[in-house]
Amino acid sequence: MINRIMANVDVKLGIKHILERVEQAYSKRSPDIRNAKPSLVAVSKTKPIEMIVDAYSAGQRHFGENYVKELWEKSTSELINAQCPDICWHFIGHLQSSSVNKLLKVPRLDMVETLDSIKLANELNKKWGNVSPNKPLKVLVQVNTSQEEAKSGIEPSAVTDLYRHITENCKHLLPKGVMTIGKFGYDYSLGPNPDFVCLLDCHKNVCDTFNLSPEDVHISMGMSDDFEQAIEMGSTIVRVGSSIFGYRPKKIDGADA
Ligand SMILES: *Cc1c(COP(=O)(O)O)cnc(C)c1O
Repeated sequence: MINRIMANVDVKLGIKHILERVEQAYSKRSPDIRNAKPSLVAVSKTKPIEMIVDAYSAGQRHFGENYVKELWEKSTSELINAQCPDICWHFIGHLQSSSVNKLLKVPRLDMVETLDSIKLANELNKKWGNVSPNKPLKVLVQVNTSQEEAKSGIEPSAVTDLYRHITENCKHLLPKGVMTIGKFGYDYSLGPNPDFVCLLDCHKNVCDTFNLSPEDVHISMGMSDDFEQAIEMGSTIVRVGSSIFGYRPKKIDGADA
């Protein structure tokens, strides 16, 4: 099954096409948005490591996964170790306290994009301090911009408090910006995506409150269906999966996000 799917997907070409679309969307961004240039995180969840190697050989370095066990298995596999020495892993899934230990042992873990509580910040901080006392772990604060109860992420109004907590009390964590998943299937004929508008607002609050320059604070928003709109609005990290690696059957329990 996997081989048949892989045969139909040219991952190298996929990366090339997405990077072209990223550039094009970036060229349409208004010059008065001073946010950083967008970078691409290739979301490889549920896909075989051979496809990651293909994307890597096309120059892709940042990869996102959202299940700790899967990330652990892929990141410690012989193939990835041999072929992808400079890979950078982003954890983009919902993080439970019970899986923090395993996550922090992932080799070349670059960023946790889904930090959404003080409790989790304290736990990550303490444990990362044991794993890597001299190099803080980059984190993004995940915001529940759609205010849906089932979604993870912190309330928009609490973002600066969490940011302050990380800055002042978590010396092993390096806060790098904000992230949202947002509602699926937004109809862009209705105007700018309200999830993106909300995250931009959080970004502005963080920059204003801590006197940070906008280009130094990441905004992770945009997936296969809407990364171009996100980039035009100011996104600095887009997380793209199915447009690169092909169709991915949805999980029945909705844990896909
Ligand atoms: C799966 C996932 C993506 C990628 O979604 P695609 O629609 O396949 O591009 C991005 N971000 C998060 C948090 C995800 O879980």
